[in-house]
This record gives sequence, C-alpha cells and structure tokens, in this order.
Amino acid sequence: MPLLRSQIEDIKAEALNLGFDVFGIALPQPTPHTEFYQQWITGGYHAEMQYLSNQRAISMRKDPRLILPSAQSVIVLATRYTKPHDLPTEQQKGLGRISAYACSQDYHHVIPPRVEILVQTIQKIAGVTKSIEALHYTDTGPVMEKDFASQAGLGWVGKNTCLISPLYGSYIFLSVCFLNLEMEPSPPFLDDRCGNCQRCISACPTQCIRPERFIDARRCISYLTIEHRRVIPVEIRPAMSNWVFGCDICQMVCPWNKRVDRLQTPVLIQPKEDLFFPQVFSELGLTDQEFKQKYGKTPISRTRRKGYIRNLAVVAGNLRHPACISPLSKLLSDEPDAIIRGHAAWALGNYHLKKTKQILLNRLRTEPEPYVRAEIINALNSQ
Ligand code: SF4
Ligand code: SF4
Repeated sequence: MPLLRSQIEDIKAEALNLGFDVFGIALPQPTPHTEFYQQWITGGYHAEMQYLSNQRAISMRKDPRLILPSAQSVIVLATRYTKPHDLPTEQQKGLGRISAYACSQDYHHVIPPRVEILVQTIQKIAGVTKSIEALHYTDTGPVMEKDFASQAGLGWVGKNTCLISPLYGSYIFLSVCFLNLEMEPSPPFLDDRCGNCQRCISACPTQCIRPERFIDARRCISYLTIEHRRVIPVEIRPAMSNWVFGCDICQMVCPWNKRVDRLQTPVLIQPKEDLFFPQVFSELGLTDQEFKQKYGKTPISRTRRKGYIRNLAVVAGNLRHPACISPLSKLLSDEPDAIIRGHAAWALGNYHLKKTKQILLNRLRTEPEPYVRAEIINALNSQ
C-alpha cells in the first residue's frame, strides 16, 4: 500500500525541519543519462577516477534496482552550502582560493546522520512495525543522483553539469535514499532553463565543459586539484590561477546562482571563514601534522598534505608573490616528495629572477630524481 499524501507531507516537513532545503521523490528505475554516462567513461573523460568506471559503478548506475532490490521509491534531498566569497582585494596578491563547498566541516559528517534520522522518522510516520529497508548516499554511491534529482522535481542539469535548483541555484549537496516503501513520485522537472546561455562554457579557464553537456575531467581544475594524485599537466597550471582546492568558476558565473544572495534562511553547514582564502606563503610550510590539524575535519583533507602543497606550489608560481620564494626554495631542497619538489621548481621558474634562477641551478647539481630534474631544466629553459 502506498503511503498517503498526508504521510508524505509529514515526511517532507520533517526533512525541512532537519535542515534539508529541498525534498522530492523519484522511482528506483533506470534514468535517462545512463547510456551517456557509459559513453563518457568509454571516452576516458573520467580521467583516473576508477571508482566511476569499474563494473559495479557502471551496472548499478544502469540499473538502480541492483542497489536495493526491495526499493520502491527514492527520496532526493538537497542541502545548500554558502556561496563563494568575493576575493578580499587589498591582499589579493598572496591569497589562494578554496572551493566554497569545502570551506566548512566535512558534509559527509553532517548530512548522512540527518538522513538516518529522517529514515527513523519515516518508519514512525509509515506506521510499520518491521524495520524498513533503506540505503542512502551523499555523494558516495554508484548512483545517477542528478538524474534522480531532476526526476524528483528538484531542478535541471545545467550546461556546467551541476544540478540547478530554480530556487537555490547549484550550491547544493544532493543525497539520495532508496526505501522499500511505496510513495507517489513528485512531478519531474522537465525544463532546461539554461536556454541560450553559455556563460559557464565561456568562463571555464581550461575549456573543459563540452557542448554535449559533459566535463572532460582530465582538464578540469576541480578534478586536477582534488582527485588527481600525480603531476598536474604543465599546460593547465597557469589556468589554475589561485585555485588551491577545487574551482567554482562555472558556478560563480551562472545567473541562477545570483539570486542565492537574496535567500534569508541560514545554511545547515556553517562556513569556516578562515578557510576560503589561504595565505599561500605561510601554507607552503605546513607539516603533515599541521595540515591534519587545520584541514582534517574538512573536505580539504581529501588531497592530503601532498596534493595540497603541490597545488599551493602551482598557485605560488601563478601569483609570483615575493614572500613565496623562500618557502618554495625550501620545498625544492628539503621536501622528500618528488612531485612537490617538481611543482616547486616550476613555480620558481615563473619568477624570472636572477635569484630564483640561482636556486634552480643549485638544486640541479644535487637533485637525484629524473622527473624533478626535468622540471628544473624546463624552468631554467623558460628564463
Ligand atoms: S570547475 Fe573550473 S575547470 Fe572545472 S569545469 Fe568548472 S570552470 Fe571549468
Ligand atoms: S551559466 Fe548559463 S549555461 Fe551554464 S549552467 Fe548556468 S544557466 Fe546554464
């Protein structure tokens, strides 16, 4: 027996009480973009994210009934986060930039426990004595969550590939919860409100948003600064500008995010103001322990110190702030990790100063690692 409309209204009210901003219901059926997803993987556009391309990831996206065979409905929830801040102009030169979603406590620690509470409440509202079967993901499962969100009426997938809510824009986290309860699905969101707009495509600094409405992750700053573990391609480094972790450009230019300013209600996950714009020259010297202490409970921890310092080195090379020369030089001579040393060499090469050239020449005499030697030689050749 399907739940009554009044019961669904009660569940929705409880979801909003718990801090979720949007609630909708979809059916646990194959969604429209699974073939497209397969083509994206086959084309290699997912870069090295094997967790997106393994057999389990593909078959579960193709047939969501494999996720929870008893599922009869999928609740989709959106949780807003604070939009990116404007760069403080007076110190602009020495500051990096962190993607807004990451400037707070890790959402994986906040949202899933609330979905759990919602499931318990649903059990009470539904009046079933046996435990209901539920499986939920917030950004962690092999699920076409943006398709489910559209089908549950939350919004449409924009040309920047983000789910855009007409009310809340795209600064949102999505959660999906598969349930073995029958519920009437919400009306799907069928409009494409991007229209003729191309702002995200034009603004993307690496031109990785393809007109077919997918992203070539191999060139995307978000991917390269967060998920990618190895050397950042040299041709992409200048385009990173001051993005140390992630990139919000294709969302910042979206007109649907302008109205977010007018929203009065507070966000569930409060931002940590000191995370938005790291001071590059001081952060270049972070030890492993300091990195864990500062970022361990935030999404920034995903890069670990190694990825974070690598990204900072690229940003330092783009900013060419005089205060970064000394910590970059220290990294080039003392850092045990070759990838960090290589990126520090690239950054020093960008200064085009006698002093930085000498630092590179000195290191070339003792550097044992072929990759780092190649970075130093390239940096010297660019002088
Ligand atoms: S996150 Fe940045 S690099 Fe990636 S698609 Fe958006 S604008 Fe382009
Ligand atoms: S910037 Fe324009 S094209 Fe891109 S997602 Fe927003 S509305 Fe769509």
